[in-house]
Amino acid sequence: MRFSSLYIPTLKESPAEAEVISHKLLLRAGMIRKLTSGLYTYLPLGLRVLKKISAIVREEMDRAGFQEVLLPMVQPADLWRETGRWEHYGKELLRFKDRNERDYCLGPTHEEVMTDLVRGEIKSYRQLPLRLYQLHTKFRDEMRPRFGLMRGREFIMKDAYSYDADLPQAQESYRIMHECYTRIFTRLGLKFRAVEADTGSIGGNFSHEFMVLADSGEDTIAYCHDCDFAANVERADVVYQEAAAKTPCQALESVATPKAHTVEEVASLLGVTHDKIVKTMIFVVDGKAVAVLVRGDHEVNDVKLGRYLKASQVELASQDVVERVTHAPLGFAGPCGLEIPIYADNSLRLGNDYVVGGNCADTHLIHIDLDRDTKISAYADLRTILESDPCPRCGGQISLTRGIEVGHIFMLGTKYSQAMHATVLNEQGVETTMIMGCYGIGISRIAAAAIEQNHDEAGIVFPWQIAPFSCILINLDLKNPEVCAKVEWLYQHLKSMGVDVLLDDRNERPGVKFKDADLLGIPMQLVLGGKSLARGVVEATERASREKCELPLEGFAEAFSAWQDKVMAKSQ
Ligand code: ATP
Ligand code: MG
Repeated sequence: MRFSSLYIPTLKESPAEAEVISHKLLLRAGMIRKLTSGLYTYLPLGLRVLKKISAIVREEMDRAGFQEVLLPMVQPADLWRETGRWEHYGKELLRFKDRNERDYCLGPTHEEVMTDLVRGEIKSYRQLPLRLYQLHTKFRDEMRPRFGLMRGREFIMKDAYSYDADLPQAQESYRIMHECYTRIFTRLGLKFRAVEADTGSIGGNFSHEFMVLADSGEDTIAYCHDCDFAANVERADVVYQEAAAKTPCQALESVATPKAHTVEEVASLLGVTHDKIVKTMIFVVDGKAVAVLVRGDHEVNDVKLGRYLKASQVELASQDVVERVTHAPLGFAGPCGLEIPIYADNSLRLGNDYVVGGNCADTHLIHIDLDRDTKISAYADLRTILESDPCPRCGGQISLTRGIEVGHIFMLGTKYSQAMHATVLNEQGVETTMIMGCYGIGISRIAAAAIEQNHDEAGIVFPWQIAPFSCILINLDLKNPEVCAKVEWLYQHLKSMGVDVLLDDRNERPGVKFKDADLLGIPMQLVLGGKSLARGVVEATERASREKCELPLEGFAEAFSAWQDKVMAKSQ
């Protein structure tokens, strides 16, 4: 294709609204534009990237024996009522009524609709396994849409569902998908890791997230140096030593701590270490306020809290709620005298003689024995794992790294099939509930994640598998008819060789063309001007490494193919 006839509105400056590099570069490279919060339009280059990602995903899903279907995006509320999710899904589910006052929602995921399709048709175990998928637009009214394509409200997902007759068959579906995802992310040219993930309110132990490793990732992954343990920190258990007998401490005392709100401020004012301070965090869990206690050097893990309390919604309490339950301004919450349930992290069991907030402005309490002075409802694993913690599997050394979740595979069990009466007759003629799995890939998020992982100061460095074009051919001298003729010959020649080539035929200065070529992240750059033509060569630059070489115009096809193989092999 010719640059001059494509709509590629590149920008010199990063738009102020973009916080992360992928968002900045996608806007600057003219690949996306924002319509409004969380809604993006894909321009020709952006769409080419999505199509390349989708093609690889489709090929691998087909290879794995999944069949492609396409379900409606608008879903009737009645199906969601059957599974109870109409009430429980929360505000991410965009609900609306049609002209007949019937309730509908925009699909954030398709377990209900797919299961409705299957239960009507499938009657016998002989028809299973049934494995279906689609590539489709999803809508989730995210609380904080941000980072461009990373967390949109409308986004493109590949979602797949498996229906199996028994557990071994369901485990096989899960294994096939794990393998398929590994192939997909390898083919996409991404550095990734499959990690154990939280199964949320769904339960069961089979869930893996596929994480693209990138410092800007929203997720933190804990992995072990000594075994193959890798998990989202939302999931990673913290192992505790047995609590030794506590040394008793003296009676509690109230001390003045004017303007000391944070752990840091209280620690330095009272001359104690952070682990001697108890942080009291107020959460609203399924509409009810609870207090959670962790050591000053630890962080509450709200996903673990939700799992422990079997809750579907966990939110940090607003200032109003905190002030109402503690009768004190923000920063002085403490467990003594609280009238809401109090859950304490297991680590607090190991110590004594703590400092806590006094539930009164500018006041803390010291010499606190939690069992003596407060009413703890329960101790549990409620904090996030740290690098200083041992590996929960082998006791080895834990490291933390950041990742972007691009895929999630899930063993659902019978949660949806039971609620929706999706059953088959088994070999003995007995009615049994189908076992389900569901498997998502964020197609549009992958485009952003690939850029987070692959960029430099000049722009995007796409893995060749998903670059909008694999080669850009730059005409340096539009006024020179010989150069123009040779460039045109090269362009046609490359196309006939099956190369996905973009010809920069714009009437722009060379500097502008070089800058844009770098910005767009096309892996192979070819440049022809008067001087190189006179020497009978094309200048070739590899975008990622910036390595340059010259390809002879005579015997161009062979020289180009050899160079292309080299570039591709590197980004494998
Ligand atoms: P997250 O924890 O990031 O919100 P999720 O657990 O809600 O993700 P799933 O329901 O498993 O995500 O969806 C499958 C995939 O869809 C995710 O792995 C992710 O790649 C993608 N995805 C989810 N939410 C968004 C979003 N708001 N914008 C873009 N992609 C998304
Ligand atoms: Mg989500």
